[in-house]
Parts: sequence; structure tokens; C-alpha cells
Amino acid sequence: MEKIYQCLEEVFGYTTFRAGQEDIIRYINQGENVLGIMPTGGGKSVCYQLPAVMSSDLTLVVSPLISLMKDQVDALNDMGISATYINSTLDYQEINHRLRQVLYGDIKLLYVAPERLSSAEFIQQLNQRQIGLIAIDEAHCISQWGHDFRPSYLDLAENLKYFSNQPTIVALTATATEEVAQDICQLLHIPKSNRVQTGFARENLSFQLFKDQHDNYLLEYLKTNKGQSGIIYATTRKEVERLYRLIKHAGLSVGMYHGGLSETQRSKNQEDFIYDQTQVMIATNAFGMGIDKSNVRFVIHAQLPGNIESYYQEAGRAGRDGLPSDAILLYAPQDIQIQHYFIEQSTGEAEYKQHEYEKLREMNQYAHTQMCLQQYILRYFGENGVACGHCSNCLDDREVVDITKDAQKVLSCVKRMGEKFGKGLIGKVLIGSKDQKITQWQFDKLSTYGLLSDMTQKEVVDLIDFLTAEQLLVPTKDQYPVLLVSENGIDVLLGKKQVFRKQLAVKQLMKADELFESLRLLRSDLATKQNLPPYVVFSDKTLQDLVDKVPTTSIEFLQIKGVGQNKLDKYGEDFMRVIKQHLEMQGHAN
Ligand code: ADP
Repeated sequence: MEKIYQCLEEVFGYTTFRAGQEDIIRYINQGENVLGIMPTGGGKSVCYQLPAVMSSDLTLVVSPLISLMKDQVDALNDMGISATYINSTLDYQEINHRLRQVLYGDIKLLYVAPERLSSAEFIQQLNQRQIGLIAIDEAHCISQWGHDFRPSYLDLAENLKYFSNQPTIVALTATATEEVAQDICQLLHIPKSNRVQTGFARENLSFQLFKDQHDNYLLEYLKTNKGQSGIIYATTRKEVERLYRLIKHAGLSVGMYHGGLSETQRSKNQEDFIYDQTQVMIATNAFGMGIDKSNVRFVIHAQLPGNIESYYQEAGRAGRDGLPSDAILLYAPQDIQIQHYFIEQSTGEAEYKQHEYEKLREMNQYAHTQMCLQQYILRYFGENGVACGHCSNCLDDREVVDITKDAQKVLSCVKRMGEKFGKGLIGKVLIGSKDQKITQWQFDKLSTYGLLSDMTQKEVVDLIDFLTAEQLLVPTKDQYPVLLVSENGIDVLLGKKQVFRKQLAVKQLMKADELFESLRLLRSDLATKQNLPPYVVFSDKTLQDLVDKVPTTSIEFLQIKGVGQNKLDKYGEDFMRVIKQHLEMQGHAN
């Protein structure tokens, strides 16, 4: 049997390689630098651990995840592989002791943080031992265009020249756009062709997206999935703490993690989560990098992340064991403002900020696409894929409606306003708003003024976002982007292309009056029984929302305007019964 298979079986206990592993190992064993892009949980560690075991030289592993080094090293030692780490958690004596072990040749793998290799002196010391391989984990951190740029990684690239015997380099990451991949190759001297990339698709994840949802949805979801392990990400520490209190108050097992907690508190909370002492972890993005907890059943983003790379990496922490898991994004438009604030506060140059705004826009478009969500993400990373069949868009069974006319109205309005304005103002012109700005600019004189007056401002902005996600409109790269009509958009204007959108079908809308009436009767029934005015039970707005969204499960019901847990408990069952009857009758009628 070839040696690498033998080693895989005897040392690691695996019978076959996972996709990509063997190719990466072959490059390394031929002494060629290589970039490996594999999804989270794809098995990147074996790619450098196996060559390390087979070689008599030292393998240096560079990783930014200091908190995990001990676990990784312990796991290797447990497998009979001599490994150690040197980082800032150790005192001077211990570092010297470990360094001596390394130099005596007792150690096969040495883990260090990138900062350590900024010191030429440290590299000089290591040079006393033959270093065969340098593995650079989380390699996207080297690129300024990556979502997690670390200057110490750039220093590292610069300092590679001080390694006297030219070790082979393997760079590994789970998230790299084409731009970032090219950057990694250039900075680490990896030939362009030495790239091993396995599919980004995570088939066991069900991506889901809900708009204007928050606390009620979370609580209901957690109750339905009691006992399952999951992570909820929020953007700010304040929001993490608020959600923590909310969920704790609901009697669920929960921990939290953010940069404002002490180191001890953070490690304790992390450990409790990893060892299933707490069910749910509420955290900022400070949590999770490299955490190898395989049974995370759901990752919910309670707020919009800043870019698709971070989103996919964080969501990817669900289902590392390959079992079906949920990746849920709760979208609220105001979350974009928080991300704007972060970008403005960052120390980057203007060009960097512009790049970040562009990424944020891509993230925002994800929330408005009707394409398969998994496919949308894959396309972002430059990969073609087929529809997953189980994300919330694939499962959206509303009817596909031809909205070409409405799309033309929007596109034409954008043109007539000179392609100089953002979606807010365009929306106002279309609904026929009397806003001062509109009259001041004389937009009320445009032929497109008020063309969509039957819609609300929010609905029109949502439509504009949809047309942007469909790439009929293109935003400029500014902080407050101006919308331009794309070539495809022009084709729509010229009637050469049609636009389709899933929404409530006309047929359903016509029957809606009947449903509204049945719900109104039920409301008045329930109100009379309790001696309450009907609007206290539910407002007309709520009834209308029920008609529009026809919820049939508790989670869906909670998404209705004006419905909280209390209302759900009190009235949910009755109203959903009527809705179900209505849907059944409709089904029979069709
Ligand atoms: P990554 O770093 O890519 O996120 P890891 O290296 O932590 O992934 O591996 C993820 C999981 O897959 C680990 O539990 C590891 O033991 C397992 N694994 C890796 N390679 C194989 C293989 N060839 N066969 C079976 N399991 C594997």
C-alpha cells in the first residue's frame, strides 16, 4: 500500500481521503507550495499533519487561534504524534524549554501565532532545525481584501525569506473569493496552478432567510429545537447581552461570548458550550474561529453580517458532522446602518472602505434574492452550483408572477431621475410622495411620479432591492450608492426581457377578501366572548397580514405584525385553523 494511505489509516484512523486532501498532500510531498481551499469541516488539518508525520523535518503551523492551540496539540499527542506550541500564554522559561525540545528534534509539529514570526530572531533560532513545511491556517487573513485581514500575516509573508532552507508552504482557508485567492498565492509564492479547491457547497445546511423577524422568532425557534446545540450571532456586544437576557429569561440554557468579557469568563463560556453544558451560545463574531464542535445544529444570525465571506464562515459552523442543520439569517434593513458605522470607524484607507461597502451591498442583496440561497453564495465565490432544493427560497412555493410592468416603471424612473439617486428617493418618486425634496427637485413633474402609488414606500424599496439582486439595477460603490440601470435592465425597459418574482398570486389575492371576512368574524367572536373590543384581539393590520402571509405554523404565525408569544398562545390555534380551512378549500377549487 502506498505510504500516505498507510499513514492515513494507521495514524489517523481514516480509511479514505476526503475531497482535496490527497491532492494537497501530493503537492507538499513533491516540495511544491500549494493553496488549499476547503469548506469548514472539510478536513484541512490532515493536509499538513499527515506530511508532518511522514517527514523527519519540523512542520511549523501558523494559526491565529491561540486559544485552540492547546487542544490541537493535546489531540495530536493523544494520537501519538509529538507536537507542541509556543505562544503568549506561556512564560519565558517554558518557551525556552519547548524551543529546546524542538531543536533537539523531539517535535514534529510546532504551532505558533503569526506575530511570533515577525521576529527575525525567533526564525534564526528555528533555523537550527531543518524545517520542511510551513502550514498557514486561515490564510485569507493575509489578504487586505479578505474579511479578516491581519497585518501580522503580511509580516510573515515578508519574513519567509529568513527561513534558510526554503520550506514548502501550504496555505489553507475555507473562504476565499478569487481576488483573495490570488492575493494569497502572490504573497506566499504559490504558483497559480497549485491550487486545490473543493466545492464550497454545504449540502447538509438549509439556508433560511426571514425578514422583519426577531425576538419572537428566536424564542419560538429555540423552544421548537430544545436540546439542540446552536449559535446565535449578533453584531454588537450590547445586542448579545440583550439577547442573552431575553433567552435566559425564557428559561433556556444559554451562554454568551464577546470581546468585553474577561478572558477567564470567555474561556469558561466557550468550554461550557463545547461540552454541551449550555445549549445556545449568543456571540459576536469574536466567537467561533476554528472551533471544532461538530454537533452544532443551527447558526442563526440575528443581525446582518458585514459580508458574505464572514456569513458563510460563521454559518458553516453548523453541521460539521454532516447531519442536516439550519443556517438562518434574520434580516432587518436597519442593521445595515450598524455595519456602515463599523466601516466608518475602521482605520482603513478610503479604498479599503469602499471595498467594504461593496461587500456589505453583496450581503444585503443576498437578503433580497429569490435564487437558491446556497447557489447565490456559491456564485459569489465564483462557483457554479445547482439549486439545493431545501433552502427557504427553494421551498418558497408562492406563485411565480410576471412583474415586468412594475419593473419597467422602476427602471424608467431611475433613468428619468438621471441615474443620480439612491433607492430611498427613487421609491418616494414612485409612490408619489409629497416630500419636500421631491418638489424641490421637481420630481413630481416626472411622468413616473406616483406610478406605483398603490404600493407602500417599504414595498417599493423592497422591489428595488429585488431588482438589484436580479442585477437589473447596479449600485455604485459609494457609501450611499446611486442606482444605475444595467444592460439587462435596459433589455427589460425595451421589452426584450421579462421579470418574474415569487409573490402571492392574483388568484389567491381575489380569494383574500373571503379569508379576511372569515378572520374578522372569528375575531369578533373571540372579542365578544371576552367582552373586549375586536381591535384589542387583533388590529385590521394584523388581519391583513394574516391574509397576506397565511401562516400555518407557530413560527410563521409569530412573524405576523402585532403577534407576540402571548397572542400566539391565546389565539394562534383558532386563527390558523380558519386559515388552513381556507387553504384547503382553495386547493380543492384549483
Ligand atoms: P477544517 O479545519 O477543514 O474545518 P478539520 O481538519 O478540523 O476541518 O476536520 C474536520 C473533521 O473531519 C474532524 O473531525 C476530522 O477528524 C474529520 N476528518 C478529516 N479528514 C478525514 C477523513 N479523511 N476521513 C474522515 N474524517 C476526516
